[in-house]
Amino acid sequence: MSKQTLSFQAEVAQLLKLVTHSLYSNPDIFLRELVSNASDACDKLRFEGLNHPELYEDAPDLGVRVSFDKAAKTITITDNGIGLSQIEAVEHLGTIAKSGTRDFMAKLSGDQKNDAQLIGQFGVGFYSGFIVADKITVESRRAGLPVAEGVRWSSAGTGDFEVETIERAERGTSVILHLKDDASEYLNTWKLKSIISKYSDHISLPILMRKEEWKEGENDQPGEMVTSDEWETVNQAAALWTRAKKDITQEQYDEFYKQISYDNQSSLASTHNRVEGATEYTQLLYIPAKAPMDLFNRDKAAGVKLYVKRVFIMDDAQALLPVYLRFVKGVVDSSDLPLNVSRELLQESRAVKAIREGCTKRVLSMIEDLAANEPEKFASFYAEFGAVLKEGLGEDFANRERLAKLLRFASSTTDTTSVGLADYKARMKEGQDAIYYITADTQAAGKNSPQLEIFRKKGIEVLLMTDRVDEWALNYLHEFDGTPLQSVAKGAVDLGKLQDEDEKKAAEEAQTQFKPVLDKLKEALKDKASDVRATTRLVDSPACLVVQEGDMSTQLARMLKQAGQAAPEVKPILEINAQHPLVKKLEGSEHFDDLAHILFDQALLAEGGLPDDPAAYVKRVNALLL
Ligand code: ADP
Repeated sequence: MSKQTLSFQAEVAQLLKLVTHSLYSNPDIFLRELVSNASDACDKLRFEGLNHPELYEDAPDLGVRVSFDKAAKTITITDNGIGLSQIEAVEHLGTIAKSGTRDFMAKLSGDQKNDAQLIGQFGVGFYSGFIVADKITVESRRAGLPVAEGVRWSSAGTGDFEVETIERAERGTSVILHLKDDASEYLNTWKLKSIISKYSDHISLPILMRKEEWKEGENDQPGEMVTSDEWETVNQAAALWTRAKKDITQEQYDEFYKQISYDNQSSLASTHNRVEGATEYTQLLYIPAKAPMDLFNRDKAAGVKLYVKRVFIMDDAQALLPVYLRFVKGVVDSSDLPLNVSRELLQESRAVKAIREGCTKRVLSMIEDLAANEPEKFASFYAEFGAVLKEGLGEDFANRERLAKLLRFASSTTDTTSVGLADYKARMKEGQDAIYYITADTQAAGKNSPQLEIFRKKGIEVLLMTDRVDEWALNYLHEFDGTPLQSVAKGAVDLGKLQDEDEKKAAEEAQTQFKPVLDKLKEALKDKASDVRATTRLVDSPACLVVQEGDMSTQLARMLKQAGQAAPEVKPILEINAQHPLVKKLEGSEHFDDLAHILFDQALLAEGGLPDDPAAYVKRVNALLL
């Protein structure tokens, strides 16, 4: 191929502009990104080499060399990994194929400040070289290709790049950065070494730099440091998770987390263990401090990378954790799986099943530990991830009890989301035999809902459930520590021993005395309500709506409809407070029909719903007001 000039894909040009304009505040990261690419290239060679050992040619020892030339003002990062063919150089360095980068591009707003922050959360990869360089040359040969089929790619990072064929004896890639004038501070062994040890210490390959030697000055001239021809390893060259816990600093754990998660803040908690026994593996798992924007997408890529005997296998190994723990980031390195393991195989493997159980237990212990010892961190964890944790009730039966203990809710007597089921139980009234809860759109709607009136009067706490997932999740949690959970909006209230005999008697009497009115109401509302009955649960309100035990709540049905999903038609039951003046007025009223409909629609309004025909409702109310 003779020399060709090609244009960058439009998105690349845009990214380049951003990189050079927004990232100058932390230019050091260019080295991290390029060393990480070099290390990925070696991982790829290792992986392909499993079936094609000839790809190693005559250089089996993989490594990355970082060197600089003061006179030419260049830094060169060379790896002997998989390398790039000519076509790959054009495709991989001229277009953005990676979905992560595409997602990133899609999120850019055009607002410099905002974008600069975003950019920090993503790896920007190869193009970060242009933070410090005004020209980059890449020379490469793909493993296995003849020496004559090397490629040189070069660009000044503006609109286009050049490619041409070159001869290249050694396999792999050299990235040569022609430094900008203001970046000459990087032409310095100490500076480069310190960046490598900060960002790339955990890379499992040796990163090599030329040794420096002290040269004595002659004739009373001062001596100086000169670089020798000898190379030395400047990183730990052991994957972080393979090292002993005691040899790893918190800073190193943090840095590793940031690199695998693209998060720019430290994690909330982490756990690092070597598991021995029937299945052997190492796990290094992190809980992020903040939830990602796509937390509720159950199909989102999993955050745990799978390694087998330190060889990188795949990025989002879903089989390693249940879906409800999809926010966890980290690495699992197994010694039992075959290196050629596929996603399909992962689903079926017994070793993977054991790893998954082990990882789940570890993550739960990590959360339990926060709950027991670090209440502030736990509260912040719960605010970010509490809702997805609840999915576990329906997904992970084996750990249901552990999960139930971790749940927290607001309640009719506590505004913060801090009431655990155990706390609730400890505060239960004498004679109370259920844990009461209500599902509602908002805390305020739940707290002020008419269904709660009798509970408030009797001083009984009711948990307020306002997460979308609550009602679904509670289908799977019928009891906690032997005490049943009971929705106050489903079925008839039975306060059992909490109600005294007089109250029970009054309720029964109301039911019979009031029967003619109830029958008339039933008839008037037969299209709207499945039943009408007198209740003792109301104190101040004239009426409220409830559903049969086992039916979907009106509130969930409403939510599903709003989201455009199919919801079963649930006809609620209208419950009437026989003591209320408005209800007393019903008997013999000439406006019976209007009053009946108003009662029903108001009950709906009180729980955050809307009348089916709002205009008709307004008309009826106005007619009475006149
Ligand atoms: P990525 O996040 O995918 O690494 P980059 O912009 O850093 O994005 O790199 C783009 C692609 O260029 C890589 O996915 C890889 O295919 C190729 N590449 C970059 N550096 C090297 C290298 N040192 N050796 C081989 N391929 C490389």
